[in-house]
Amino acid sequence: MDVRRRPANPILREKADAGEQLIKPHKSHQHQQQQPPMKASDALPLPLHLTNGLFFTIFFSVMYFLLSRWREKIRNSIPLHVVTLSELVAVLSLIASVIYLLGFFGIGFVQTLISRPNPDGWDVEDENTEQFLLQEDSRSGTCTTLGCAVPPPPVPSAKGLPKISQPAAKAAMAVEKPAPLITPQDSEEDEEIIKSVVSGKIPSYSLESKLGDCKKAAGIRREALQRITGKSLEGLPLEGFDYESILGQCCEMPVGYVQLPVGIAGPLLLDGREYMVPMATTEGCLVASTNRGCKAIMASGGATSMLLRDGMTRAPVVRFATAKRAAELKFFVEEPMNFETLSVVFNKSSRFARLQSIQCAIAGKNLYMRFSCSTGDAMGMNMVSKGVQNVLDYLQTDFPDMDVIGLSGNFCADKKPAAVNWIEGRGKSVVCEAIIKEEIVKKVLKTEVAALVELNMLKNLTGSAMAGSLGGFNAHASNIVSAVYIATGQDPAQNVESSHCITMMEAVNDGKDLHVSVSMPSIEVGTVGGGTQLASQSACLNLLGVKGANKEEAGANARLLATVVAGSVLAGELSLMSAISAGQLVSSHMKYNRSSKDVTKVAS
Ligand code: ADP
Repeated sequence: MDVRRRPANPILREKADAGEQLIKPHKSHQHQQQQPPMKASDALPLPLHLTNGLFFTIFFSVMYFLLSRWREKIRNSIPLHVVTLSELVAVLSLIASVIYLLGFFGIGFVQTLISRPNPDGWDVEDENTEQFLLQEDSRSGTCTTLGCAVPPPPVPSAKGLPKISQPAAKAAMAVEKPAPLITPQDSEEDEEIIKSVVSGKIPSYSLESKLGDCKKAAGIRREALQRITGKSLEGLPLEGFDYESILGQCCEMPVGYVQLPVGIAGPLLLDGREYMVPMATTEGCLVASTNRGCKAIMASGGATSMLLRDGMTRAPVVRFATAKRAAELKFFVEEPMNFETLSVVFNKSSRFARLQSIQCAIAGKNLYMRFSCSTGDAMGMNMVSKGVQNVLDYLQTDFPDMDVIGLSGNFCADKKPAAVNWIEGRGKSVVCEAIIKEEIVKKVLKTEVAALVELNMLKNLTGSAMAGSLGGFNAHASNIVSAVYIATGQDPAQNVESSHCITMMEAVNDGKDLHVSVSMPSIEVGTVGGGTQLASQSACLNLLGVKGANKEEAGANARLLATVVAGSVLAGELSLMSAISAGQLVSSHMKYNRSSKDVTKVAS
């Protein structure tokens, strides 16, 4: 187990072996070190290895002698119990050597036990050294701070391994139970609840409703989890988060929250306005790179964006007895008069949901209807699902033989790569462009227009085509999309289709300047609902000026956010493509990704 492991570091090991003190020991221990304890072997007249050799020689010689005498007697039919004097002496010598050897190994075994007091077999020199090891290990998040001093239980037996009996397993767990981390005022009461959760008497999911205190529920669940698993959650913060704000909306059964750094790229000059773009990421270089792209865009007069389409989709799958009946429903929903009626039914589900189209696809007897609707400032998955449910209920009257297999039939398509999103779009479809001046390409991006155009053609277009890419005709759109999504409370799983992007680069103005554009057909964002209302994410939306619902025009905030995402992707594409074309990719990652010391040196 890590906790008591002797220095894995060979230098530490050497120091320890050489008697060098890692940490100054107590006086009593110094005394112990000066006078090594007496061993049983110290009483022998000869050195230990000579004594051992002597007794081994006696043992094997006597054995050989006795066995050869025994064989002779059998050959000559002499009774075995008739013993000569030499045989008697040999037997006595054999007994003496056996006694010695048994004693020697017995002493050795006892000495081994004494010198290795912990069951791991790792020797600990003194308590100070042990303390050093514990401190070192506590940084790596082992369960040392929970009082674990023995290794965690073995992973429950797989097939073929002996099963551990229930009481034995319980006993093992009892030894390894970490000490409680939380010590609230009414700890006795809490202790009882923790024990009930551990034993299964209280379901973990019911803590919020039982206690009526989300923070306390999270703390108790966390402590119970540590005890059940024997694993420490140290490092995962519990304090400093509003657990009420996620109840029934964002996350169930919380035990803490993950911290992520948020960096700022910008200003991004887009459609005449400047935006400071928050990016939550742990990838070194990403924010710095996007920032450089923003600088190039700004110095060239800014970027322009156009929103081409705005509609969230949901596609249920329904089944009929025949393909003919499935086709009849397809023609029914496509009939303009019927579509009008269905829109009224659909739009009743929300003030903001407005049905735009129903696109149908048939697979035998099964019909997939891709409903598309505007959803105001919400990303809109819930909203569109409610509207679709209303329509399905309504259609059941005219098509009683319609069997609704699933509200989502994957023709939507949510959180999976799909050509339907790439071609038809989902959420917001945005195109964003800029003309980067020749001198900016040289001075800020440290490359040439021709080099960028060629790289884009061979990498983002041809290379992605060779790879059979679906919507991946870009350098790293998903990097920027994910970082902005996490910072602003979007659903990061929708990064899959939201990162669909084709990056185009072309030499313009007599081949001097660079026209760069990103076309992104399925940016799925919202400024209300989901994670957008949480404090940190809400602050990032506020920074962009798109927090919450737009009071004047429903949906304007979400649409603006989509264009900012596209503008940031444009900046990211410009910078990374430039780094690659200038051969800087590895060196810049080494600079920003590997060592904070290096970054400081570079900055200074
Ligand atoms: P989603 O549909 O993105 O999953 P929700 O289910 O939380 O998000 O729906 C958004 C909620 O916010 C709805 O209840 C809606 O009525 C409300 N809302 C308030 N203002 C707006 C707005 N401007 N645009 C969209 N929804 C809004």
